[in-house]
Amino acid sequence: MSFKKKIIDLLNRFEDLFMTSHSCMSCGKEIEDGTKFNLCENCLNSLDKIEGRLCKKCGEEIVGENVRVCDYCKERDYKFNSNHSCFYYNAVSASIIKNFKYNGRKYYAKSIAEIMAQRSDFFEDVDVITFVPINKKRRRERGFNQSEEIAKHLSKMLNIPLVTILEKEKDGKHQAALGQKDRLKNLKGSFKIIAENVNKVRGKRVLIVDDVFTTGATLNECARVIRVCRPISINTVTFAKTKFNSAN
Ligand SMILES: [Zn+2]
Ligand SMILES: [Zn+2]
Repeated sequence: MSFKKKIIDLLNRFEDLFMTSHSCMSCGKEIEDGTKFNLCENCLNSLDKIEGRLCKKCGEEIVGENVRVCDYCKERDYKFNSNHSCFYYNAVSASIIKNFKYNGRKYYAKSIAEIMAQRSDFFEDVDVITFVPINKKRRRERGFNQSEEIAKHLSKMLNIPLVTILEKEKDGKHQAALGQKDRLKNLKGSFKIIAENVNKVRGKRVLIVDDVFTTGATLNECARVIRVCRPISINTVTFAKTKFNSAN
């Protein structure tokens, strides 16, 4: 490790140790020290937890007997085995993600990972954890990769090795501004395998971490690329998910 890298690593550790929030990650209201998950009671209770019988593909709740996948996923083919998300995207989860990503609150990653780790069934049968990469320019602007930060904390908490398997090459348009078809087109060829880490994934059960599951296009493209490394399975996990099926 170079001297510069050592200093950066040290600073990051200090940040994790001392930068703890005294305000709610979602609404900003002051909270008492040691409040669970850095959320006020109101926001914690307003998170829309995804639970019950879940779609085997996207991880959304399903209604009706004898169905394994939701209506939305019936016609869809995913390159990952299945996704799990902790909460639906609503005002509270959206605000946590927004404050985390766009207001430079890197230290939120720890609380977000703690909340996610509560769902221990989402982390069963996992050999290695990886994450959705962002390109260098965005990383510089934001100061960190939100998915990588969450993945790092999950890896530490759950004692599952973290592997950096993908890097983002192309600086495509912002996914948020595009429809589903354009999202897929925009992503083609944007993720590249880091060759020296292929062996760390081959024959393993891989879990890809991301902050939000919107259409699934990004995680799908990551899974498609990782498949080249011949893992046993690829599952995905996110903090929040936009609801596909309005009837639920
Ligand atoms: Zn709050
Ligand atoms: Zn589904």
